[in-house]
Amino acid sequence: MDPGKPIEDQFLKLHPCLPLNTRIGIVGAGPGGLSAAYALAKLGYNNVTVLEKYHTVGGMCESVEIEGKIYDLGGQVLAANSAPVIFHLAKETGSEFEEMDSHKLALINSSTGKYQDIKVADDYVSVISLTLELQDRAKVSGRFGIHAVSEFASDLTPSYLEAHGFKCVPQSVAYGYTASGYGFVQDMPYAFVHEFTRTSMAGKIRRLKGGYTSLWQKIRESLPVEILCNTEVLAVRRNSVNVTVNAKDINGETKIFYFDKIIFTGAFPFNNRKTYLAAPSNSTDHCETGVMDIDQLEKEMFSKVETIDYYTTVLKIKGLEDIPMGFYYFGEYMNDPTTVGHPVAMQKFFSETDIFLFWSYGNSVDVKRAYCH
Ligand SMILES: Cc1cc2nc3c(=O)[nH]c(=O)nc-3n(C[C@H](O)[C@H](O)[C@H](O)COP(=O)(O)OP(=O)(O)OC[C@H]3O[C@@H](n4cnc5c(N)ncnc54)[C@H](O)[C@@H]3O)c2cc1C
Repeated sequence: MDPGKPIEDQFLKLHPCLPLNTRIGIVGAGPGGLSAAYALAKLGYNNVTVLEKYHTVGGMCESVEIEGKIYDLGGQVLAANSAPVIFHLAKETGSEFEEMDSHKLALINSSTGKYQDIKVADDYVSVISLTLELQDRAKVSGRFGIHAVSEFASDLTPSYLEAHGFKCVPQSVAYGYTASGYGFVQDMPYAFVHEFTRTSMAGKIRRLKGGYTSLWQKIRESLPVEILCNTEVLAVRRNSVNVTVNAKDINGETKIFYFDKIIFTGAFPFNNRKTYLAAPSNSTDHCETGVMDIDQLEKEMFSKVETIDYYTTVLKIKGLEDIPMGFYYFGEYMNDPTTVGHPVAMQKFFSETDIFLFWSYGNSVDVKRAYCH
């Protein structure tokens, strides 16, 4: 799909290429699974089933209620350029956004608790001309997203920027990128950082009123699609005619589903995937006998996928009630990928609370594996 054109117009031009009663199974009711179900329903498919292992939909865009307030634990921040589909879905379901411009962006010292604001605007201005130059080159490539600049911005970010006259990576770009869960800029080809800068740094940032999960729940209710929660897919077997899915429900009872087509979403556990900043696993590859039968081409393709282990910890901390609402970056851990396991950022979501969210990559086991050899 062309992200530059309204989604409504694009759907009008699409037509189903399979019979409308094709039995389609979707594994996972996170953003990927529900968006796929939404698109299939729009195209007129009438035999779609979504299988979700948890009791609720939304996947990693999960919101929880703590002491009467809704917190987003995963997906939270949205910029119009980075998530046109989410903005479209929000419009269709009547979901509202709130702006996060009252949220401070600051650098905090983990030992003293002292913080200083980050001058995001100044930092961003310094990369605007490079961003525009790359955007022009992307336009003529005829491709979208990272793919459009991958051929000429594939060098690692520090060396790419140095070659373009920068002394270092602008701080707010580096911190924004890392705190969004995309990894450390030192490890990333500039194409990725460019895509982040282009889509996320310009314009207002917003969050969904009532939390991200509320959007996915509304979509669930509006879709003419069967969505089975508490249904964990255990094994998928395909042959030239159909797909057999073995699952278990919340009581541990086995359920068997038959589909003509299957769509996987989320980080499905293929054994040969890699995890960012973790040592390569020595375990032998059990894909063929694992959750899914996988052919050689798929094996090769999925072995290129790198999963980022990024997670949120919620803490109730006494004595920091006066800290303003906002995002606080831990510079000492942000700048150094070898400190993986420590939190890179902290958020105070609401004023007058003592609830803080901390974001970290990997865990201490990964640190030892990756760096103690
Ligand atoms: C800490 C953190 C912060 C983030 N911040 C942002 C942000 O600010 N803005 C933003 O846009 N994005 C953010 N993201 C990313 C966003 O959450 C993901 O991009 C998005 O959730 C991916 O959607 P998905 O459907 O591909 O996968 P998931 O959200 O992982 O959904 C996959 C679903 O599949 C289900 N599933 C897995 N295995 C099985 C099985 N065997 N059987 C049945 N169901 C199964 C899972 O339970 C899950 O519901 C953040 C992510 C994290 C972790």
